[in-house]
Amino acid sequence: MIDFNLSEEQRALYDVVHRFSVNEIRPAVEKFDSASAPEDAVPLALLRQGMALGFSNLLIPEEYGGYGGDMIDYAIAVEELAYGDVGIADLFLVNISLSRLILLGGNQQQKSTWLSRMCDDADKGFVIAGAMTEPTGGSEIFCPLADAKFGVRTKAVKKGRHYRLDGAKCFITNGGIADLYIVLARTAPDASNLEGCSIFLVPADTDGIVIGKTENKMGHRLSSVREISFDALDIPEDYRLGAEGAGFRILLECYEGNGVGVGSSAVGLARAAYDAALEYAQQRNIWGRPILQFESVAAKLADMRMKIEAARALVWKVAWSVDHPDKCNAFNKLGSMAKIYPAGIVREITSSAMDIFAGAGYMRDLPMEKYVRDAMLYPIYDGTNDLLKQFVAQQLPHAPSTIC
Ligand SMILES: Cc1cc2nc3c(=O)[nH]c(=O)nc-3n(C[C@H](O)[C@H](O)[C@H](O)COP(=O)(O)OP(=O)(O)OC[C@H]3O[C@@H](n4cnc5c(N)ncnc54)[C@H](O)[C@@H]3O)c2cc1C
Repeated sequence: MIDFNLSEEQRALYDVVHRFSVNEIRPAVEKFDSASAPEDAVPLALLRQGMALGFSNLLIPEEYGGYGGDMIDYAIAVEELAYGDVGIADLFLVNISLSRLILLGGNQQQKSTWLSRMCDDADKGFVIAGAMTEPTGGSEIFCPLADAKFGVRTKAVKKGRHYRLDGAKCFITNGGIADLYIVLARTAPDASNLEGCSIFLVPADTDGIVIGKTENKMGHRLSSVREISFDALDIPEDYRLGAEGAGFRILLECYEGNGVGVGSSAVGLARAAYDAALEYAQQRNIWGRPILQFESVAAKLADMRMKIEAARALVWKVAWSVDHPDKCNAFNKLGSMAKIYPAGIVREITSSAMDIFAGAGYMRDLPMEKYVRDAMLYPIYDGTNDLLKQFVAQQLPHAPSTIC
């Protein structure tokens, strides 16, 4: 029933991404991570290189020129990218997850225009950004709990065969470098989010897009995160993804698999910290022996390893259930667990790794302090862990914990 051996294709995918991560990303990270201006921290050439290798197009069906992969492929690729650097993994996972959003919500014309464009222009680095969060609160958007209606203030007002967009978005990954923005906006002023919001495909060269400041982040410094606003921006009605008012329903379907991307990224970072700590524990000799021989150090490493294995198994189970919605009823709607658990353990694992390196780990010469900075983001973005747990809790009565 269960086979954890990678297929030949999965192994080949792993090899390509792992090599890119170790040979291309890792040697470049320190320079970009330490750039004093956040604009200089984004490695555009590396992004283009990875895109030319097809990393952004993993989930796009072959008929549009994509790789035609599944959610396990997505998990494998993002974990390996994050093993190299989590900021770069963000650049890709946003693209991949938004290609899925277009697949889920787009009509035939939209899919063939934009998904083909992502594949055809991969060499030039065709980038997408998802502009959902607003200064009025991201929690409402990534955890649409009940009848919330305060978090989306960006308006899309219908004028003939166009919509006019006005409003401001914040914390937008790939902001400023994107060719296409996928924008959540309110089309019905008084309705709840679930009824009153729609999604629009907005090409970056549309008049009325205002690119705001680049955020100066604590970690994930190699990703570009910016404010974006819309000033009397006119967009044709056929650039709306799905029906008017269906925006949140499309997002909800997409969220079911979102945890696979962020969760795999957390696993990749946790593994990078664990590998470094294990190597150090074997090499660092004090009291006449390697510190791995001290029980407390060994127990830390065993604990780190167990959590990584548990996190990856959970992410892969969610990935599989998203690909097989008909076969995994008890597990459907619990997809956020794939984000929540890895996002929690990656903070613990990077902190334990720092403890094993002790004084040396605290210094900027080694990547340990970067790993700790990078880990802090996971329980915050793509919906806070606290809120996502509430979201999962709502589903528990309908999702028995039985084996089948
Ligand atoms: C580096 C980075 C990249 C990002 N990339 C993107 C992106 O590409 N696109 C995008 O749209 N957004 C993006 N975001 C936004 C991100 O998803 C949000 O920051 C996140 O969803 C949390 O929203 P918030 O920061 O507004 O927190 P808030 O919603 O203000 O929440 C603040 C606190 O209140 C708690 N809280 C909120 N509501 C409740 C409640 N009902 N009950 C109990 N507690 C509650 C939260 O758990 C949290 O602790 C990014 C953020 C960061 C930091």
